[in-house]
Amino acid sequence: MSAATSTVGCPWCAFSARPRALQTHLAGEHPEQVRTRQVEGTLRYEITCPRCGAQYDQRVKKAARDPTFVAEFEPEIRMVAFDMLVHHLVAEHEMTEPEAAPDRTAEQTGE
Ligand SMILES: [Zn+2]
Ligand SMILES: [Zn+2]
Repeated sequence: MSAATSTVGCPWCAFSARPRALQTHLAGEHPEQVRTRQVEGTLRYEITCPRCGAQYDQRVKKAARDPTFVAEFEPEIRMVAFDMLVHHLVAEHEMTEPEAAPDRTAEQTGE
């Protein structure tokens, strides 16, 4: 088996690269996929995985004191959001088993 240095495919285009490079690609080519918004003085960002619809809605740790904050930190926020998406892609979509998956039904852990 080869080391875990496989590439990850961009969910929005045919680009494929190692996680770190993919993150840079996403920030450069698909910045609009990260949506930022302010909720009661708190800055949040949203990103949705186009492959499975998983939505991430996270609060940015830094406080959003003024509107310029968003513009100033948007590139940084995008990198954080895309970093999360890349991890998601690697964990959920790049290690997928062959179609003929055994009867390992995804158990839905209730409450
Ligand atoms: Zn792409
Ligand atoms: Zn996904």
